[in-house]
Amino acid sequence: MSDCLFCNIAAGKIPSKKVYEDELCYAFYDIAPQAPVHFLVIPKAHLASVSEVTEENGAAVGHIFAVIARLAKEMGLESYRVVSNIGEQAGQSVPHLHFHVLSGRDMTWPPG
Ligand code: 5GP
Ligand code: ZN
Repeated sequence: MSDCLFCNIAAGKIPSKKVYEDELCYAFYDIAPQAPVHFLVIPKAHLASVSEVTEENGAAVGHIFAVIARLAKEMGLESYRVVSNIGEQAGQSVPHLHFHVLSGRDMTWPPG
C-alpha cells in the first residue's frame, strides 16, 4: 500500500534502523523504544493487523516467529516479550501488522 508507513519502511522508501530482512519480512528498531531492546518485525505484504491473518496468508506469521526466535538468540536475549496490538483500544497506532519485541528490563503483568 503506497500510503502505508510500514509498507514504505519495508520498501526502503522511508529510512529505518534495520535489524534483519528477507523476502517475507523486515525487522527494524522502534523509533520510540519502550525497553532497552525494542524492535518491530513486519511482513512485507500488507495486512492491517492480526485480525486479517488467515490460513491462506498466515505462513508469513509463522516465519516471523521463527525469525524472532533466531534474532533473539543471536542478540543473546534470555527473556523478552512479543506483542501485537490490534485496534485502537489495544493501542495499535500503525495499521500494518507488526510484532513488537521488547527486552532488557523487568516487565509487569497484566500489561496496561
Ligand atoms: P503500535 O502502536 O501500532 O502497536 O506500534 C507502532 C510502533 O511503531 C510504535 O511503537 C511507534 O513508536 C513505532 N513507529 C511509528 N512510526 C515509526 C517510524 O517512522 N519509524 C520507526 N522505526 N518506528 C515507528
Ligand atoms: Zn502496509
